[in-house]
Amino acid sequence: MARLGDDIDDYCVKCKRVMNHAVVSLLGDAAAKVRCRTCYSDHDFRNEQAPPPKIDPRKVAAQAEKAAAAAAAAAEAGESGVAESGGAVAEVPVEAPAVKSAAKGRKKA
Ligand SMILES: [Zn+2]
Repeated sequence: MARLGDDIDDYCVKCKRVMNHAVVSLLGDAAAKVRCRTCYSDHDFRNEQAPPPKIDPRKVAAQAEKAAAAAAAAAEAGESGVAESGGAVAEVPVEAPAVKSAAKGRKKA
């Protein structure tokens, strides 16, 4: 049983989490639309369920590109030693920078 203006928990797509909402529309006894108390966006009440993740076409394209590149590289390498994706991390030994006071030698005569 919900009433207009009631506080209700729901998933906010803007806040990307379950937030406090106010009921702004009812369908029978159930909340139909709610407004996020944090970002004030209205949306259909979704019973605290996060919507299915949207597939970012750019990400998909990038992944496809990567896969294609990897496949091409694999083909080029004669399908041997493909396990390493060339992500060699250059480990530079940490040297303490010589930041000792360089102005030390200056003395007042
Ligand atoms: Zn929100």
